[in-house]
Amino acid sequence: MKSLSFPLIISTWDFGAEANRVAWKILMSRENPLDAVEKAINAVEKDPGVTSVGYGGIPNADGFVELDAAIMLGPNHKAGAVAGLKEIATPISVARKVMEKTNSILLVGDEALKFALRNGFKKTNLLTEKAKQEWLKRAEEGIIKRMDSSHDTIGLVLLDSKRDIYAGCSTSGLAMKTPGRVGDSCIIGAGLYVDNEIGGAAATGVGEQIMMFCGSFLVVENMRRGMSPQQACEAAIKRMISKRQKKWVGLIALDKEGQYGAASLGKEFPLAIYCKKGELIQKSKIVHNLPNLGLNMEI
Ligand code: ASP
Repeated sequence: MKSLSFPLIISTWDFGAEANRVAWKILMSRENPLDAVEKAINAVEKDPGVTSVGYGGIPNADGFVELDAAIMLGPNHKAGAVAGLKEIATPISVARKVMEKTNSILLVGDEALKFALRNGFKKTNLLTEKAKQEWLKRAEEGIIKRMDSSHDTIGLVLLDSKRDIYAGCSTSGLAMKTPGRVGDSCIIGAGLYVDNEIGGAAATGVGEQIMMFCGSFLVVENMRRGMSPQQACEAAIKRMISKRQKKWVGLIALDKEGQYGAASLGKEFPLAIYCKKGELIQKSKIVHNLPNLGLNMEI
């Protein structure tokens, strides 16, 4: 795919368009890429209409919303993350605090919540009436035991005007997930990864499969070996298929030159892209078709 110049921001799914808009505004006004990633993801986390991220997320099998999030910075190769965080609407902001205030990368569960409260975050009931009704319906239908396929992560990768790379992701994970289940989105190398000399990647889809292949790390390493972001995402999907792992996964990536790419396994995958002029310039539906392994990308 052609180089688009920079700054360049790419995000997963339709809600990525709003995230990109917020990130772009911050980049243009105060050129703080870390704030841009955090606030962009906050916008999706706080939106009750998005039922797979933050406030309004569909709960686990016991009816509790448990959130995973991570943030990673290229320039100093640092990261912070939280897993299984309850009652805090903005887990990406807690992840940033973990990175800035501790020597740890990942805090989990109750201790992550205590850390958040110590750092000024306020408890919120994350379960909206809409999500509760959805949970009740699924529970009544008897699908409480299995992890449901409705899910989606906001994953965002940003290349700023200095050509530094940043990434973040946030999710409530698989709807009806086993309580305590942690997905890929808070695992550095799985849900997201940045190498400031090479590029960055983020993932959405079934976290177990993404983790089994260190999905985002694999994409970045593919780029290190000379592949374009597009080729790197496709190669990672092909690796999964070669091991007969065929659950749904979507990958996005950009490189230091301002090229981007994305691939997914068997279903449409909208990607939101902002570049130079600060417009949503393209919205792609990208499907990596299983039967022939051919890529069918419509832009
Ligand atoms: N990757 C997320 C998880 O497994 C869910 C998703 O992105 O669809 O928790």
